[in-house]
Amino acid sequence: MQDKIKKARDAIQKACKIMVFTGAGISRESGVPTFREAGGLWDKFKVEDFATPEAFQQRPKEVWEWYRFRRNLMRKVKPNPAHYAVAELDERHDDFLLATQNIDNLHQIAGAKRVMELHGNIFRSYCMKCGYEADESVSELTGEVPSCTRDDCSGVMRPKVVWFGEQLDPDVLEQSFRFAAQADCCIVIGTSGLVYPAAQLPFLARRNDACVIEINPEPSAITPITDYFLQGPAGEIMPQLLEETR
Ligand SMILES: [Zn+2]
Repeated sequence: MQDKIKKARDAIQKACKIMVFTGAGISRESGVPTFREAGGLWDKFKVEDFATPEAFQQRPKEVWEWYRFRRNLMRKVKPNPAHYAVAELDERHDDFLLATQNIDNLHQIAGAKRVMELHGNIFRSYCMKCGYEADESVSELTGEVPSCTRDDCSGVMRPKVVWFGEQLDPDVLEQSFRFAAQADCCIVIGTSGLVYPAAQLPFLARRNDACVIEINPEPSAITPITDYFLQGPAGEIMPQLLEETR
């Protein structure tokens, strides 16, 4: 394992264009609660009861209530050493991009700057009529469905997350794909590699002969194309990949 870590570390140091691709696993180590674990009020519901365009159309107030509840849970969670290590890579490397499937904002709290949020950000909202984007404060004020504050729009605001059955933001996707296709190093952390189109990213990098490094507690759909599969918690392994150049 130490030998593999050393080789992966060398590959990262040599790389010019580095992509990091993260999924729920990196946040799980911070204890980001799923609403199931939270218990109580929402126990009898499924994610699909809220995270779909149909649910929002039929029960917007309830969907907002659920998102406020989840935001409150997520607000208590802090980034872990893996998030900080990714942020440090961002700071060190001129040519860097992080693509994350997480909506919890933990990468940004840790200091990452160049972040593609493939599935959105739970703390942001946007107007369904004019596209105006707002931070959380707008929607936290009342228990009602928030409406747009731009000029006299007053359109309905919705959480800026990609719901089941929705397409990913084409700009975010295109920028991520383009970067991956030119990367010479791709670090995959905490994702099963099963959710498409996001899961294509490491495969695009591989096609460009990038060195693919994976950190996961168990092998994933990406493992067969990796140069280095580092099994274990990202919070322990990621900092080691940066160590010697500190
Ligand atoms: Zn608007």
